[in-house]
Amino acid sequence: SKDYRVVVVGSAGVGKSALVQRWVRGTFREAYLPTIEDTYRQVLGCNHTPGALHITDTTGGHRYPGLQRLAIARGHAFVLVYSVTKKETLEELKPLYEQIREIKGNDLQKFPIVLVGNKIDESGRRQLALRDGAAYALEWNCTFVETSAKADINVRELFHTLLSHQRKA
Ligand code: GDP
Ligand code: MG
Repeated sequence: SKDYRVVVVGSAGVGKSALVQRWVRGTFREAYLPTIEDTYRQVLGCNHTPGALHITDTTGGHRYPGLQRLAIARGHAFVLVYSVTKKETLEELKPLYEQIREIKGNDLQKFPIVLVGNKIDESGRRQLALRDGAAYALEWNCTFVETSAKADINVRELFHTLLSHQRKA
């Protein structure tokens, strides 16, 4: 099938669901609703081939490791999200990146990865600088962007980056 599955991972509370909601629905919610796993299906007008974009918004992975493993195995592209307001959330992406690398093996380069530092609207609470995320992106050879789901900064750019990779594939 022509379906393209994007998997969003990262620690609880970093804004994975908020980023997906912002992009799919154009909305933002202050309240925190823990996610188990949600799938969004978006049929894309800009895509010339028929098919759908599936976005899998995962939970942290500690409580449902099997679900996350399966999502990674089936995924075509990955969004690794941390919060610039919480230092440990960037380091917590390491095991997730390792898991993607392990599951995808030698085919890793075929699967675009975007590292996302979210919540940049909270400038007074920043614990991670732009260069902290950039250093990880360099090491992982992936795209990097800082976003705010709340203030709607770089969210469209983030998903368009993934879709441009899809068209090249
Ligand atoms: P998830 O567990 O990664 O899915 O995180 P959520 O999307 O549920 O967001 C967790 C909390 O952070 C919620 O209270 C959101 O309103 C808030 N949040 C998410 N994105 C942003 C953002 O860009 N800026 C700010 N200030 N808060 C955000
Ligand atoms: Mg969520």
